[in-house]
Amino acid sequence: MPGTNPRELGLLADCESCFGLCCVALPFSASADFAVDKDAGKPCHNLREDFRCSIHQQLRQRGFPGCTVFDCFGAGQKVSQVTFEGRSWREAPGTARQMYAVFPVMRQLHELLWYLAEALALPAAAPVHAELDAALAETDHLTRQPADVLEKVDVAEHRAQVNALLLRASELARAGLKGKERRGADLIGARLKGAGLRAANLRGAYLIGADLRGADLRQADLIGADLRGADLSAADLTGAIFLTQAQVNAAQGDATTRLPASLTRPAHWAERATAPKQGRGPNTARRPRRR
Ligand code: SF4
Repeated sequence: MPGTNPRELGLLADCESCFGLCCVALPFSASADFAVDKDAGKPCHNLREDFRCSIHQQLRQRGFPGCTVFDCFGAGQKVSQVTFEGRSWREAPGTARQMYAVFPVMRQLHELLWYLAEALALPAAAPVHAELDAALAETDHLTRQPADVLEKVDVAEHRAQVNALLLRASELARAGLKGKERRGADLIGARLKGAGLRAANLRGAYLIGADLRGADLRQADLIGADLRGADLSAADLTGAIFLTQAQVNAAQGDATTRLPASLTRPAHWAERATAPKQGRGPNTARRPRRR
């Protein structure tokens, strides 16, 4: 039985052990997030021979802020070192197509592992811990299958099963707190400064560019919520459920934003504090996601 610690589960990205898969396998479009177009399976022109990024320290300044937001949940090193046993697409070009096909599958499975581990850490979700444990073990088992099995995994079906469990865990964790029901709500650019959203159901809500300064988001369920460009300055996200580092990276915030203990404050929040103020126009808020 695997543990539930994200580090022990290998859910923290380790770029040193990855063959730069997010910089090769995934496509991106020229936008506010990426300076150029790139097709799937084509190495980014900034990727060095050693799989490191040649502009890592200047990604935002050079027009690639989307790269600072993306998180593979450790899928890159799993595909590189476990599925393909340390042989890169440069060493074995014949494996490249399959490696690129497996990477997005693995990323989704690792994301589910992240959520399951978090649900298992919710004491109030104890009534479903046994089912969560089983789902975590099954998902972990899937990640260890050979490439030809992995590329055919029906991730949507598996995700739907896991999601039903995560929803029950979330409901148990928020029971009695009378949180608002805003699942899937269109809150793009909404003025929610100081809003009382404690234990709110914000699953899949569109919060792009929303003003959430000083909002109370404690114990709010934020799974899949789109927080790109949302302002979380002075917001309280203590105990927020199913919030990921990628969501936090995509938002804005400051030194007074309170985050769940498992997440870190993005470096660009500090840079923003020292940069000249800019307007939050709709074009900066409605950035296309990295596909
Ligand atoms: S800019 Fe750097 S991090 Fe972004 S895709 Fe290219 S090589 Fe990767």
